[in-house]
Amino acid sequence: MDIEEFRKAGYQAIDRICDYYASLQNRPVVSQVQPGYLVDALPASPPEQAEDFDTIADDFQKLIIPACSLEGILGDLYSSSVSNPGFNWLSSPACTELEQVVMDWCAKLIGLGDHFLNRNGIGGGVIQEQTTASEACIVVCVAARARYVRENPDAKLEDLVIYTTTQTHSLGVKAGLVLGLEVRALPVKPEYEYGLRGDALRQALKEDHARGKRPFVFIGTVGTTSSGAVDNLEEIGQVLKEHPCIWLHVDSAWAGVAMACPEYREYGKLDAINKYAESYGTNFHKWGLVNFDASMLWVKSRRNLTDALDVTPEFLRTKQHDAGLVVDYRNWHLGLGRRFRSLKVWFVLRRYGVEGFRKHIREGVALNEHFASLVRASPDFELVTTPSLALSVFRLKLPSGVVLKEQETTLSALNDLNRAFHTRISAESDKIFLTQTMLNNTFCMRFAVGAQRTKREHVDQAWQLIQASARTAREDWLAKRTRA
Ligand SMILES: *Cc1c(COP(=O)(O)O)cnc(C)c1O
Repeated sequence: MDIEEFRKAGYQAIDRICDYYASLQNRPVVSQVQPGYLVDALPASPPEQAEDFDTIADDFQKLIIPACSLEGILGDLYSSSVSNPGFNWLSSPACTELEQVVMDWCAKLIGLGDHFLNRNGIGGGVIQEQTTASEACIVVCVAARARYVRENPDAKLEDLVIYTTTQTHSLGVKAGLVLGLEVRALPVKPEYEYGLRGDALRQALKEDHARGKRPFVFIGTVGTTSSGAVDNLEEIGQVLKEHPCIWLHVDSAWAGVAMACPEYREYGKLDAINKYAESYGTNFHKWGLVNFDASMLWVKSRRNLTDALDVTPEFLRTKQHDAGLVVDYRNWHLGLGRRFRSLKVWFVLRRYGVEGFRKHIREGVALNEHFASLVRASPDFELVTTPSLALSVFRLKLPSGVVLKEQETTLSALNDLNRAFHTRISAESDKIFLTQTMLNNTFCMRFAVGAQRTKREHVDQAWQLIQASARTAREDWLAKRTRA
């Protein structure tokens, strides 16, 4: 492709991206394809002859169209235009230093303490190269393990335990699988809105220490995926003060960006995070206006990462690194080479400003409050937990006069009804997609707001669809019961 062809194809790409975004409203919310659709549509081997770019772009249009903000897309576009391996400072000074700056911007935006800033030279932030909160969690567990074993040379690896709660995202179990370590999920209670309390942690520590186990990291969550639960990090921090070898990591992959607004910082336990957490992670690609991927991790002490992960063969040595003048981010994560991800974050933060970013978050929360008020006012539905920021968890109530069958409990009947409803709304409408979850054996549905273009009318439309599906689902469910 020569430069003029690139110019033409580039304009066309932008046109198509614009058309795509303009048409989002009318597209089905979940992909309508069947498994195997693409495998069957594509040749099994690469083409022998070069293809025309138009053909390639048309195929993208036809076969791929995936599902952020437009600023972020432009950032990625520019990022692709600089060939950039990024494996040490010298190979890409701009990639390294823009990331250092932008990570400090993001830390300040969400209120993290100065000890998490790159600028202070001790702590710092990094965009994870394998790009997800799950990788960040593995990196954290590796660093926590290395620190623990350094401080407790008698500890045997098979005795180490990763602590999570039953509400922790799959990243806790995944880290255990990858590292070959035991994971213990501490139980949480509905009366504390599914957040972990200090007592439950203290109890588990007592039990595990008695059986010779060595918990070395606790993965707390602010804003769980299931219900937006928040662990009680003040209490947890207090308990962990007596166990300074145990690393506190806080996963706030979804909710962390809400801390940009001062009014949500208390809810998000920001003070406790700044006081007690060794590390903190959030994804700007979820609710933070940046297109996938931008998973960020901050640590109080970068030494803990580099002590565990620094491998510097001769061919990667540079005089700047040897002199201690630069950050080589490759020692802060698993991958070596890295993309220029900070560009898109830089674009987004500059284009929105702190004010615009906060406005986006506040709109999400307000829209969810609107949804929650519709649920509360409805005789047919109920909220299962208190709405958390931009997430509501709800379910259908049992219709009045339902007689429980033998062996049936109110909960099992409720779960049965709600499963029937969920199956129906999933099959019936290509306009709404509700993910389900289980909260301590209670089947429920999640309603989450977060996209930049979501407006009140979309929430109202969703509520109409939910009510219509519920009506028929409930009638069918009742009819089936009387037949049986
Ligand atoms: C989405 C989410 C994750 C997983 O994020 P990845 O970056 O895809 O690994 C982890 N924890 C929470 C709370 C999440 O919401």
